[in-house]
Amino acid sequence: MVEYIRKKFLSESDYALTGRDPRVNKGTVMYRQKKQPRTGERKWLRETKCVKRGERRMRKLYYESAYIREFEGIVLSCREGKKGWEIVLDQTAFYPEGGGQPADHGSLGSVHVLDVHEKDGLVVHTTDGPLEEGQLVKGMLDWERRFLHMQEHSGEHLVSGLIHSRYGYDNVGFHMGTEEVTIDFNGLLEWDQLMEIENQANRLIWENGPVEAGFPSKEELERLDYRSKKELSGDIRIVQIPGADICACCGTHVERTGEIGLVKFLSMIHYKGGVRISLLCGRAAVMDYEKRREQLQNISVLLSAKPLEAAKAVEKKLAEADRLKEALAKSSRRLVELEISGMEKKKGRRYILEPDFDGLLLRHLVNRMLEEERGETVLALGMAAGGGFLYVMGSRTEDMRLLSKELNALLSGRGGGSPQMVQGTFFAEQDMLNQILHERGFIQQP
Ligand SMILES: [Zn+2]
Repeated sequence: MVEYIRKKFLSESDYALTGRDPRVNKGTVMYRQKKQPRTGERKWLRETKCVKRGERRMRKLYYESAYIREFEGIVLSCREGKKGWEIVLDQTAFYPEGGGQPADHGSLGSVHVLDVHEKDGLVVHTTDGPLEEGQLVKGMLDWERRFLHMQEHSGEHLVSGLIHSRYGYDNVGFHMGTEEVTIDFNGLLEWDQLMEIENQANRLIWENGPVEAGFPSKEELERLDYRSKKELSGDIRIVQIPGADICACCGTHVERTGEIGLVKFLSMIHYKGGVRISLLCGRAAVMDYEKRREQLQNISVLLSAKPLEAAKAVEKKLAEADRLKEALAKSSRRLVELEISGMEKKKGRRYILEPDFDGLLLRHLVNRMLEEERGETVLALGMAAGGGFLYVMGSRTEDMRLLSKELNALLSGRGGGSPQMVQGTFFAEQDMLNQILHERGFIQQP
């Protein structure tokens, strides 16, 4: 026999006082005694009947409290879908993907919840295994994931509300990824303006004010000036952060701004006539801080500089590297002149190996040898960074494109250029290289 007892009836004025969700509470809340299938123990189960429509609703526990991380539910249906098993319960705390907020993960009894989405007003859990219909299961949310989503979502409202009231821009796109949150606004901002918003948002976080979510009545809604992405119909859920924002939203939020922890903007780019802002909130911001600290620490050790002076130290190193490069180029050119002065004037094909020379210097060497008539066709070889030989070949008498094609084919090479000069890489052993070049009439310049 099923017994019902009648509990409190919450009206809209109760909602105004309590801030509780009237869609669930406005109705007759029944408690039904039910025998537990496994233990045989009798337990009071809460059931909600909607007086207006006279139908039993599926309870969305995440709208009763965003802090429910464990619950029990009865399996109403379970069928095999494309991405796993699709399970519907009589009540759930799993938030389905929506309004920019990703779905919750966690477990239902022995199976893992991989995804959650809403279909025809029902919350469907996609799991990696089946459950028996009629079975009472314990649901457990991956709370770290969900709470971060709450921090990010409330942080996003805070920022969007502040930018909206200060600059009149609308949030026209919102994405919560695993790493960061992005928000698109339909107007341009400067970084300084964004820093002011960040400052203001963090002040509101430190003030630890309330974040209120609920379904106001039609009359109340008419009086409210709230942000909304589209024309909404039916019950409209409003999330309000007094002093910062009021917005239609279906997501889960923290109860007080202090729980957002912090808001940190990372970047801003121009996007579709407005801006796309990347930001981090709460735990994600703290984790990011640690990653950046570690990077900076490693850099500052390598540079022997204080972490906050690393950029200055890098600037110094780069200037030093430029000076060294210039000095090296000067002495290398001097070396080329010295080498050339020690060579005799020669005709025919010559080649020279300079393991430390880069492409630029090889080219210079070839040009100078040709100018000073140290050969009619000159091939200069260096060592390539990824293995093989870099080559530059020039001539005053023959077409270099034809010769490089021939040598490339013999020495697994690639490259090309003009009739006067070619460059590329040979991928061959040195013995093979010497042999092929000798066969083609090249004489090595010691
Ligand atoms: Zn929202």
